[in-house]
Amino acid sequence: MPPPTQGRSSAQQPADEAYISSLVMAICLYGAVSRQVVIIGGGIVGAALAAYLCEHEGVDVTVIERGPNNRLVGSTGLAPGFVGLLGETPVMTGLARASADCYERLEHDSLSGFDRVGGLEVASTPAGMADLERRAALAHDAGLPAHVCDTAQAMECEPVLVGPDSCVGGVLYPDDGTARAEVVTAALKDSASSAGTHFVFDAAVTAIDVRGDQVRAVRVGEEAFVADDIVIACGIWGPAVAALAGRLLALTPVAHPYVYGAVHGRSAARSPFVRWPEHHVYARDHGDRLGLGTYDHAPLAVAIDQLGAVAGQPWPAALFDPAVARALDLLPPDQRFAPERRVSGVFSMTADNLPLLGPIEEVRGLWAAEALWVTHAAGAARALAQMMTGTSPGIPGLEALRPGRFTGQRADDLNDRALRMYRDIYATA
Ligand SMILES: Cc1cc2nc3c(=O)[nH]c(=O)nc-3n(C[C@H](O)[C@H](O)[C@H](O)COP(=O)(O)OP(=O)(O)OC[C@H]3O[C@@H](n4cnc5c(N)ncnc54)[C@H](O)[C@@H]3O)c2cc1C
Repeated sequence: MPPPTQGRSSAQQPADEAYISSLVMAICLYGAVSRQVVIIGGGIVGAALAAYLCEHEGVDVTVIERGPNNRLVGSTGLAPGFVGLLGETPVMTGLARASADCYERLEHDSLSGFDRVGGLEVASTPAGMADLERRAALAHDAGLPAHVCDTAQAMECEPVLVGPDSCVGGVLYPDDGTARAEVVTAALKDSASSAGTHFVFDAAVTAIDVRGDQVRAVRVGEEAFVADDIVIACGIWGPAVAALAGRLLALTPVAHPYVYGAVHGRSAARSPFVRWPEHHVYARDHGDRLGLGTYDHAPLAVAIDQLGAVAGQPWPAALFDPAVARALDLLPPDQRFAPERRVSGVFSMTADNLPLLGPIEEVRGLWAAEALWVTHAAGAARALAQMMTGTSPGIPGLEALRPGRFTGQRADDLNDRALRMYRDIYATA
C-alpha cells in the first residue's frame, strides 16, 4: 500500500479545486464572505450611501476620504442647507422628499438634521407670479402642499426678509426646510460605523485597479483596498477620480457666492427660507445671523486642475461683490447687511442639471453618485444602494440619471451647457 501523499497529486487537483470553489460559494451564500464595497468620498453622499449599504446583508463597506474625520473639506461643509422639495421632474422631487424624510430623523450632538421651516418663493412682477403659480400647480400634481399668498401674507410668513418693494406675492411650500449638512453627515457616519463600515480618513485615492472590465481594488499610495464594487462619491473631484479608472464623468465644477451677516441678536425664528427666482437670489435666517446667496452673475467654472483639496476658493470680488450688492437690495432696507463672512464654494453642475447616479458604463463594479445636492443626497444614496444590491428602487425615473447619458458628446459643449444652467439652477434642460 503506498504511503499517504503529503501534497496533492495532479489527479487530485481538479477535484480539490471544484470542492474549494463549491465551499467558497456555500460560504458566500451563507453570508460568511462579504461583497467588498469601497466608497471614495466621505461627504454627505458617501456617508449616506455607507449607512444605506450597511442595511444589506453580506455587504462589507469601506469609505476612503482624503480629508480628516473632524472637518468636511468638500462642498458639504459649505452648504447653507436650503432644501426645496419640488423639482422640475418627478424623479428629483422623489429624491428630495426621501432625503428630507431621512434628515428629519437624524440628530447629532443634540442638533437636529433638518428643520421643516418651509420655503417661500417670492415674485417681484406679475409675470414672475404667473411662473410661481405654474410651479404651485406642479407641486399639487406631485402631492406637495403649496399655498399661493398675496404680498401681505408673504410678508407675514417671513417679516424679516420680505419687504413690499420686491414682492407682489409668493408661494409657500410648508414641507420644505433647512438641513444641517454637517449634522446629517456626522449622524450618517455614526450610523454606518456602528453597523460595521470602516472609515479611512486622511487618505487620498491615487489609483483604481481594473482587470479586464471588472474593478479589483482602490489604491491609496502603496496600500490596496480590494473591491468588488467601487463608488465614486467625490463631488467636484469626481471627474479626476473617474479618470483613474480611465472613465469620463461629464461634470463641471462651478464657484458660487454665499454670504453671512453679523450676529443679529434676535431670538431664533422658525421662519421659512426665501427665494426670489426672477432675481436668482435666496436667503435665510440661520438663527443667529442672516445668510444670502445669488446666481445673478456670469458663471465661474473652476478647472479640475485648479480645484485643490478643499471646496472653498478665494473670493473673486470683481465678479461676486456687485451680484451680492444687487441681491441685498431685495431685502427690506433695515435688513441689508454688510457681509461678515464670504464663501466662494464650488459645487457640481451637469449639462441637464441632473445628477450622475448609477453604474458607469464599460467597467463592471464601478458606480457614480455625483453632482448631487444636499437636497437629494440621502434619497439618491438609498436608491443607489438598492440598485447595487438588486433591490428595486422605490423611486421611478432613475434611468434619466444614468452617468453614461452624455457619452459621445463633446466635453466643451457639455461644459457650456452646464454653465448656461447655472442661473436657472432649479430648472432642467
Ligand atoms: C456655497 C454652496 C452653497 C450650497 N448650497 C446648497 C443648498 O443650500 N442646498 C443644497 O441642497 N445644496 C447646496 N450646495 C451643494 C451641496 O453642498 C453639494 O452638492 C453636496 O454637499 C455634495 O456632496 P458630496 O458628498 O457629493 O460632495 P463633497 O461634500 O464635496 O464630498 C466629496 C468628498 O470626496 C473627497 N475626495 C475627493 N477626492 C478624493 C480622493 N482622491 N480620495 C479620497 N477622497 C476624495 C473629498 O475630500 C470630499 O470630502 C451648496 C454648495 C456650495 C459650495
